[in-house]
Amino acid sequence: MRTLDDLLSVGVAGRRVLVRCDLNVPLGAGEHDRREVTDDGRIRAALPVLEKLLDAGARVIVVTHLGRPRTLFGQGAPDPEYGLSPVADRLARLLGRPVTAALDTVGESARLLADELGDGEVLLLENVRFNPGETSKDDAERLEFARELAELTGGEDGGGAFVENAFGAVHRKHASVYDVATLLPHYVGDLVRDELDVLGRLTGEPARPYVVVLGGSKVSDKLAVIEALLPSVDRLLVGGGMCFTFLAAQGHDVGDSLLERDQIDNCRRFLAEAGDKIVLPTDVVVAEDVAEDVPAETVPADAIPGGGKGLDIGPDSVRLFAEALSGARTVFWNGPMGVFEISTFAAGTKGVAEAVAAVDGLSVVGGGDSAAAVRALGLDENAFGHISTGGGASLEYLEGKDLPGVSVLETV
Ligand code: ADP
Ligand code: MG
Repeated sequence: MRTLDDLLSVGVAGRRVLVRCDLNVPLGAGEHDRREVTDDGRIRAALPVLEKLLDAGARVIVVTHLGRPRTLFGQGAPDPEYGLSPVADRLARLLGRPVTAALDTVGESARLLADELGDGEVLLLENVRFNPGETSKDDAERLEFARELAELTGGEDGGGAFVENAFGAVHRKHASVYDVATLLPHYVGDLVRDELDVLGRLTGEPARPYVVVLGGSKVSDKLAVIEALLPSVDRLLVGGGMCFTFLAAQGHDVGDSLLERDQIDNCRRFLAEAGDKIVLPTDVVVAEDVAEDVPAETVPADAIPGGGKGLDIGPDSVRLFAEALSGARTVFWNGPMGVFEISTFAAGTKGVAEAVAAVDGLSVVGGGDSAAAVRALGLDENAFGHISTGGGASLEYLEGKDLPGVSVLETV
């Protein structure tokens, strides 16, 4: 795999370089109800690669997706709700340089602006998912769109190059992630390289004890990763919405908590296979509704009242999980322990995050919401060994799946 430094060493001044970033950040209402980036972690993570290229005089064309644009007018049609202008604003502020934002992905605006780009300047294309070719299942349609993207750089003969820096998207066989790399000289960006290095340390021979903490909303999302990790971990701590299917598998009543009935058998099998490796919460915080200011109470995990929703793990569980984490040498954490977005249900996630941060060894946080939780709860990002920018991608890597956006870089 050729690296960004390989590209820099052959020289990029005056060349147009397409950089696939993952600037898929959460947006909320800001001043005057304007859409505003509410967590810019992914934008900040993309900066070093962009700065390296810009300092070397490259003409940088950034391409990213944002959310899943509605399909009202045919798949991927422009949806103003998912336009990239708030991202362009934040990127410019963080880079400390102007960022030109194209009005389209490969249309007139993008082509003109790409042509006019000067050395050390940045162009951000509009949300790449506005073009149906991006996510098409039809190889020819995807390749066609990738060709248009590659043309913005002038193509291989015109000095164009492609840098893959969107770790959060490498598990997708999309035009701007996969196909475009087949058309241009391609290089792995530092962000993707670092992610692969760290995740490689989890799958190789991790220092023991190796403890994995899983949470988040659904067991079904995490089934494959549980299956893949169970044999190699020393402890698997389960919290979040998914713990209730495990509690149900043990025969407990979980009230109105999140429950995936069709996964109960799988959970039962995991519990049988894992022996005492799987650790479940001993108490949970329940309320009648998922809302701010609802009365909440902490109850034993085997005594959830009918009608009650389990929305966080309780303080005893936090102690239990923290104890399991205290001696760990390698930790992977994916998925919040509760509905951390609401302060009443944030203590479990905060407590476990603090215990993960305190680990003396390698601690890795994977998952978009988990990384957002670390920042939203005011924890020091630097206390963690690594905060992955890719939720799905890091899980698929740990499951041992092929990542199309990475393996394509291994081809010449
Ligand atoms: P990640 O993005 O880190 O992989 P997920 O997307 O799997 O995490 O899950 C995150 C979501 O899970 C959060 O929005 C959180 O509110 C929700 N969640 C956590 N615990 C619960 C629970 N007990 N009940 C319902 N939702 C939960
Ligand atoms: Mg998520």
